Amino acid sequence: MGLPPWTIDFHSEPQALPEEIDFAVVGGGFTGLAAAAWLRHSEPGKRVALFECSHIGAGSSGHTGGMALSETAAGSLPGLGDVLVGLSGILRELEVQCDLGLPGAWEIGRQGVMPNSPIAWNDSGTLGVTREVPGGTIDPGKMLSGLAQAASKRGALIFENAPVESLHFEESPVLTIRGKPVRARSALLATNAESLELSGLAGRAQPKLTMAIATEPLSPEQLSSLGLAQRKPFYTVDLPYLWGRVFHENRLIFGCGLVHVEDWRVLLTLNVAEGRAAKLLSDLERRVRDLHSALRGVRISHRWGGPILIAENWEPVFRRHAAHRNVIVLGAYSGHGVALSVYLGAWAAEAMLGKRDLPQWDDAVNAADGQKLLGGHYPTG
Ligand SMILES: Cc1cc2nc3c(=O)[nH]c(=O)nc-3n(C[C@H](O)[C@H](O)[C@H](O)COP(=O)(O)OP(=O)(O)OC[C@H]3O[C@@H](n4cnc5c(N)ncnc54)[C@H](O)[C@@H]3O)c2cc1C
Repeated sequence: MGLPPWTIDFHSEPQALPEEIDFAVVGGGFTGLAAAAWLRHSEPGKRVALFECSHIGAGSSGHTGGMALSETAAGSLPGLGDVLVGLSGILRELEVQCDLGLPGAWEIGRQGVMPNSPIAWNDSGTLGVTREVPGGTIDPGKMLSGLAQAASKRGALIFENAPVESLHFEESPVLTIRGKPVRARSALLATNAESLELSGLAGRAQPKLTMAIATEPLSPEQLSSLGLAQRKPFYTVDLPYLWGRVFHENRLIFGCGLVHVEDWRVLLTLNVAEGRAAKLLSDLERRVRDLHSALRGVRISHRWGGPILIAENWEPVFRRHAAHRNVIVLGAYSGHGVALSVYLGAWAAEAMLGKRDLPQWDDAVNAADGQKLLGGHYPTG
């Protein structure tokens, strides 16, 4: 999928698979890690194991942009609460240091630009700030490592290279891992754009690859002339779509574009140096260099893509598995899951512990509103 400009500083210790546990978490992205850590944080006596088919951060979370945004891709949903306040509280409780900063985020566009817009970029018209909304950024590598360490330190078992091959249901769910059965009282499926047959989302949600690049470090003067001295992340509310943020050493990260795949398995082998992904990346590089004189000739140091999952109405999926009520399926944040994954991962943990109900979001937003509220966030095309 290409390499982003951060590292994930966590590797699980080799250990024997358990035969029986209280809680199984499938997927080592932000959602699964937050859930595993929160389960042990809330109930230190329960046996919790997380199974990741590849390595921690192999999916979307390790290839994200790292903008922490409020609400969902479909806007606010009934009972959602304040995602950013929730995220900050969970990270604080779990003592995860991931450079969370919430200075606000800019919606940018070609129309309705604020008179004193700090940004004036050339991109199919003049792009400027139309509105400031709550938001900010994290370091994705640090958030993944921090959540994995928080889970592990609290006694959750973490298994990498441990694909959940199948799931069957007796009185309780039984997962097959490396050919062996692992019985759990309850399970969370946080596999996002992959293993859609396992999560019951095959044919009900669309897996896609979306692209990003990072520049070489810029000088403070370059950052100022771009209008980014306040380090606020930004995303367009009209087309063509573009999002971006400032990362460490004053690197800029930009992203846009979708590669459609018929089968999620294609995501696992897709080479970003070839085909449509490569074309989207080179178009993005050209666009970025044309945005402003400060970016003309800028060197691109990192190019990558990552999976996202888009479900009906652009709403996240957070529900019990159709085949067993002790299995929860959580994901499909439509490219809007950095803050939401941690917030809802902790909520899923509380639901598994019987301390909280799941939300009732199905049918809460109609398709037209969902598309509109998305405001250009990963539009198809
Ligand atoms: C380029 C890009 C930019 C983005 N930018 C932003 C942004 O700026 N702001 C924002 O809010 N969101 C953004 N997103 C979306 C956000 O990153 C995701 O919504 C979030 O990371 C999803 O986390 P997750 O844990 O649910 O899924 P993932 O991180 O995808 O984790 C799922 C894990 O499950 C594992 N898995 C799959 N099948 C199995 C199995 N059978 N057994 C065991 N393990 C399995 C996978 O290997 C994977 O590690 C972006 C995404 C991309 C790709």
